Amino acid sequence: MTEPSFDLFVIGGGSGGVRAARFAASFGAKVALAESRYLGGTCVNVGCVPKKFLVYGAHYHEDFETAAGYGWSVGSPGFDWPTLIANKNREIARLNGIYRKLLVDSGVTVIDGHARLVDPHTVEAGGQRHRAKHVLVCTGGWPQVPEIPGKEHAITSNEAFFLERLPRRVVVVGGGYIAVEFASIFNGLGAQTVQLYRGPLFLKEFDQSVREHLRDELQRKGVDLRFDSDIASIEKRGDGTLLAHLKNDGGTIETDCVFFATGRRPLTDDLGLENTRVELDERGHVKVDAHFQTAEPSIHALGDLIGRVQLTPVALAEGMAIARRLFRPDEYRKLDYELIPTAVFSLPNIGTVGMTEAAARKKGHELRIFESRFRPMKLTLTGLQERTLMKLVVDARTDRVLGCHMVGPDAGEIVQGMAVALKAGATKRIFDETIGIHPTAAEEFVTLRTAVR
Ligand code: NDP
Repeated sequence: MTEPSFDLFVIGGGSGGVRAARFAASFGAKVALAESRYLGGTCVNVGCVPKKFLVYGAHYHEDFETAAGYGWSVGSPGFDWPTLIANKNREIARLNGIYRKLLVDSGVTVIDGHARLVDPHTVEAGGQRHRAKHVLVCTGGWPQVPEIPGKEHAITSNEAFFLERLPRRVVVVGGGYIAVEFASIFNGLGAQTVQLYRGPLFLKEFDQSVREHLRDELQRKGVDLRFDSDIASIEKRGDGTLLAHLKNDGGTIETDCVFFATGRRPLTDDLGLENTRVELDERGHVKVDAHFQTAEPSIHALGDLIGRVQLTPVALAEGMAIARRLFRPDEYRKLDYELIPTAVFSLPNIGTVGMTEAAARKKGHELRIFESRFRPMKLTLTGLQERTLMKLVVDARTDRVLGCHMVGPDAGEIVQGMAVALKAGATKRIFDETIGIHPTAAEEFVTLRTAVR
C-alpha cells in the first residue's frame, strides 16, 4: 500500500464537512475536502441562510402596517423579488468565499468536483486518485418529490431560491419545517398561498398547542391551509399556468407554482459506497455507530446523510466530534443529542426545546402545564391581531422543566436561552426565582404562575 496522501479526506463541503475538515487540519492532520456543488452546502446555499433572508423580506409586509401605528407614513409599499434575490445571491457568494478562505487558511486542500470512493482508503476526485487514512462522507440530502404525474412541473426549495419572479399564486405541499416556512414567505411577499398537508394538522413532531396556534396565525395572515389534502397530479396548461388535481375530493386548484416540501432523501448517488462495507438503513441513510463510524472502519459519516437530526448546528457538533475523535482523542466526548433546541422560521416563528406535552405524558410523567397567550406589546398600537404563545411542560413530581415552547416574534432567540436552563436541569422554581426583563415577551417564561392543567 502506498503512503496515504491525506490523514482525512472529506467528501462534501456542507456545515459538518467544513467544520470537521477545518478542525482536523488545526489539530495537525493533513486534510482534503471535495465539494461538487457549492461550499457551505444546503444551509448556506439553499437552506437556512437564504431562507432567513426571505423570511425577513416577507415580514416587512406587516412591518409597514406596524410602522403606521407608530405615526410613520409609509405610502403604498411595493415589493421587487429580483432585487431581493440578487442581494441574497450576492451575500451567499460572499459566504461561499469565506468558507473557501476558512478551509484554505486552515491548510485544507479544497478540490472542486465530485468525489467517489474506489476502495475504503481511495477517493477519486478532481481527475486524480487520493489515498486517505480516514474518509468522512457528509454529502447531505436532496429534496424528495412524490412520484405523481406532472411532478416535473413542480419546484422544491432548491429552485424556489432562484425563481425569476414571485409567482402570483402558489400551492405549497407538505407539513414540515420547509412547508410552513415557505408558506409564510410566499404569503408575506404577496402571493396567494395555499398549503396542503396530507394529515389532520401539520408539524407532527411539535407540541399540539404550538401546532394549533401556528395554524390559527397562518390562517389569520391569509394562508389558505387545507389539511387531509394532497396532490394527485399536476397539469400544465397552454397559458403556462398549472392545474393541481387533488386526491380524495377530486377538486382542483389553479396556480402558477406548485412547491413540494415533502422531505429530503440522503444524497448517496455515485459515491462508490458499493466499493466499501458501508451499509445503508431502510431509508437510505448511512448507518453509523455512536462514534459516527460506518461498517467500514476507515469511513465515518455525519449530518443529514446519517438522518439522525437534520439541523445545521447538529452537523457542526458532529463534525467537531469526529475531528476530535480521530485527531484529538483525549478531548473527544460522545455527542449528547438530548434537549436540542430548534426554531421554525414561519411567521410567526416557533422556538422549542425539550419534550412536548404529549411525549412527556407518554413517558409517564405527571405534568403541570403553564401556558400564556397574549398580543405582543409592539402590536398594541396597530391593527395587527397576531398572538404569541408560551408554554412550559413541567414534571409535577421533580419540578423539572421538561419542555419549553413558543410561537411568536423572535421565538428562536428567546428559546436559545431557555435551552441553556433546561440543559442545566432547571426546575420551575428556578424559573420563578429568576427576575424578568421588563417589558419583554421573554419575561413571560419566568412569570407563569398558574398551571392551566
Ligand atoms: P420534514 O420531514 O420536516 O417534513 C416533510 C413533510 O412532507 C411532512 O409533513 C410529511 O408528512 C410530508 N410528506 C412526506 N412525503 C410526502 C408525500 N409523499 N406526500 C405528501 N406529503 C409528504 O421535511 P422538510 O422537507 O420540511 O425539511 C427537511 C428537514 O430539514 C427538516 O426535518 C429539518 O430537520 C430540516 N430543516 C430545518 C429547518 C430549521 O431548522 N428551521 C428549516 C428547514 C428544514 P408527514 O408529517 O405526514 O410524514
